[in-house]
Amino acid sequence: MKMYPITRAKLWLRALIAGEKCIACGEMKTKGESLLCPECEDDLKRSHLLLCPDCGAYARDCLCVTPIMRDAGLDVLIKYAFYDATDKDAALNRIIRRLKHIPDRLAFSYFAAVLSRHLSVLCNSRGYTKDNTLVVHIPRSKKTIARDGHDQAELFAAAVAKRMDFPHRAVIKRLKHGKAQKYLHIDERIENVKGMFCLKDADSVKGRNIILADDLVTTGATVSEAARILLSAGAADVVCICIANSDKFRK
Ligand SMILES: [Zn+2]
Ligand SMILES: [Zn+2]
Repeated sequence: MKMYPITRAKLWLRALIAGEKCIACGEMKTKGESLLCPECEDDLKRSHLLLCPDCGAYARDCLCVTPIMRDAGLDVLIKYAFYDATDKDAALNRIIRRLKHIPDRLAFSYFAAVLSRHLSVLCNSRGYTKDNTLVVHIPRSKKTIARDGHDQAELFAAAVAKRMDFPHRAVIKRLKHGKAQKYLHIDERIENVKGMFCLKDADSVKGRNIILADDLVTTGATVSEAARILLSAGAADVVCICIANSDKFRK
């Protein structure tokens, strides 16, 4: 994992405080020079070589949305890599699982930094500025946050907001826990997320552009439901950003 634009000093500091643990396998092998051990770094390259079934580009150059997102009127999903849920030992899957349990801010700021290159271009072309844009995350349930001690989507959104110098607002409130989406069929997922969210302060999104952040997007049912309530509250525009996106439902 190329460390630009995280400085060596930050990596050393992280190694000093948290140990030199690889963010995928958790082994102490990074020597304060990378967020990953050499084996996981090689493995992550495999995820980067997966091509988008729609546009044929690598994940980091692909803005394609899932069919559910398209139906919801969304047209942009920025992603770091494609995710194959069946490949449980893949470095990317391990990273996503590990960040659920470990609030590793430097890892989130790394993903935010890489993704900000495309996001900056997009914000310029759509007229998103500090004054008219909010970064918003899809919140976990209270039960999950209590179990894990943090909300990974919130930390990811905070890192994106910091990188872009945009405000981050926790405007979405989760009303129900819902069934775990991964066990549901695509139609059941859309049903499962209905009524899942409301807005804490609907006025704060009126006329605003929203960068909607989540760590993992699979069918896109959850981000679509969140986008729907943001747009019906008067949000001007919504684009989505995630670390990993499963391409399974797009073929
Ligand atoms: Zn590793
Ligand atoms: Zn694409």
